Amino acid sequence: MDFKELNLSSETMAGIEKHGFASATEVQEKVLPISLGGKDVMVQSKTGSGKTLVFLLTIFERYLKDKNSKALVVAPTRELAVQIEEDAISFSSAIEGYQIGCFYGGVGYSKQLEEMREGINLAVGTPGRLLDFLKSGKMDFKSFDIVVLDEADRMFDMGFYPDIEKMFSRMRRREERQTMLFSATLSMKVRNLAWAFMNEPEEIEVRPEEVTVKEITQELFHVTREEKFPLLLSLLKKINPQSAIIFTNTKDAAVQVAMRLKVNGYRAAYLMGDMVQSKRLKTLDDFKEGKLTILVATDVAARGLQIDDLELVVNYDIPEDYENYVHRIGRTARAGKSGKAVTLADEMYIYGLEPIEEFIHMKIPVLWPDECGLEEVEDLSKGMKIRKDQRIRKPGERKDRKGPSQRSERRKSDTGKAVQSRKSEKRKIQRSESKAEKKEVRKIDAEQILKKEVEGKNVRRINLSEVKTEEKKGFFSFIRRIFGK
Ligand code: ADP
Ligand code: MG
Repeated sequence: MDFKELNLSSETMAGIEKHGFASATEVQEKVLPISLGGKDVMVQSKTGSGKTLVFLLTIFERYLKDKNSKALVVAPTRELAVQIEEDAISFSSAIEGYQIGCFYGGVGYSKQLEEMREGINLAVGTPGRLLDFLKSGKMDFKSFDIVVLDEADRMFDMGFYPDIEKMFSRMRRREERQTMLFSATLSMKVRNLAWAFMNEPEEIEVRPEEVTVKEITQELFHVTREEKFPLLLSLLKKINPQSAIIFTNTKDAAVQVAMRLKVNGYRAAYLMGDMVQSKRLKTLDDFKEGKLTILVATDVAARGLQIDDLELVVNYDIPEDYENYVHRIGRTARAGKSGKAVTLADEMYIYGLEPIEEFIHMKIPVLWPDECGLEEVEDLSKGMKIRKDQRIRKPGERKDRKGPSQRSERRKSDTGKAVQSRKSEKRKIQRSESKAEKKEVRKIDAEQILKKEVEGKNVRRINLSEVKTEEKKGFFSFIRRIFGK
């Protein structure tokens, strides 16, 4: 369904158009006609289906009709609250004077308090901090005429049920507000809450779409981490795609792969979720116009982008969330065309393979490089150090220690403290995420197991890339057994 059919105001439409969203997702199509009418809704729909926009558009439309309308969105985590706030800011940019505040723990109160004093139209926050404000009398919960509980099931899993109850008990009567609840599952607890605090909510379920990956040619290569990049070069040489997206699990890997591809003569660029908007748009435009043939991105960076109809999708890393496999490869073979998806399964991410194959109800066909006529290609980036600041250093080239680092310069040029603290906040979150990621990886150091399996107990380090295909088949099936059920 086209968003135009919803008769939204021009301000809201401007926000949607800015993001280039042509049509509504299934959950938007099903829920918006009801929620825009002011009715309570209880929505079950899986992650990534576009629920945020359902409540944001409802909130904005309500405000545009009544400038006294005040909305509250409760989300389980700080990260999610920040994400919702960012979406809200971005989609409301054409609504004049619209004020949004974000309230979460782990940071000082003063800035958030200040935000509130200035008068806000939309408050987004986590239960803990919101309750603090409620208790101290700093936030009047009766002022909200539209209330959203996002990821309700997760909030319960995190033990926020009592907090939510307290908040609701301090709000205006349910008949005098619109309440919307979103959840990946509608458990008994969620239903109880709906029964206790919502006004005859309409229950809407969006069944997960059938997983159809049949039209896509899927291939999988078992490779060691060292072999991955050379194999990618061989694949690209053979397939020679006009448009391809390469998915990595980390931002760092995305930078590395994109820069190394560039060194090897490919018109490649990386895409990141937290990239400056103008750079992000420029990269996308270049890709759409064919100035770039390869985009390297993480799942987060590619979310919500209309990059599809691709000739090739490469899972440079196996996605850790099995649903992302389908999201990724679904970007090829659109509209009945054939497409290709190649997955590189290395020892670090192979544990993600079983759940994927279970989810898509098939085994991804395994190929071996020397058996399918892949030529070896010289890697021109071999030995080069790719620095975070995106400059490429040749082997032996010394790091320039003189002069201010780009980073500190960037920091100086940042204007406004608010911007800076918001940014450092984000950085903190990202840092703690990547720490958790590293831990996870250490725990399952599959490579060590592999090496022992192949060489027996007494061998120290072996070069996995030199192991013959026949032997590799043995140990990769071994490693799959370990991570299988
Ligand atoms: P959910 O809350 O259901 O997990 P989100 O609201 O976070 O999902 O949306 C997932 C992604 O889809 C976001 O990147 C969002 O920008 C994008 N998106 C939402 N609606 C649309 C649409 N109509 N067309 C294209 N992308 C969309
Ligand atoms: Mg969501």
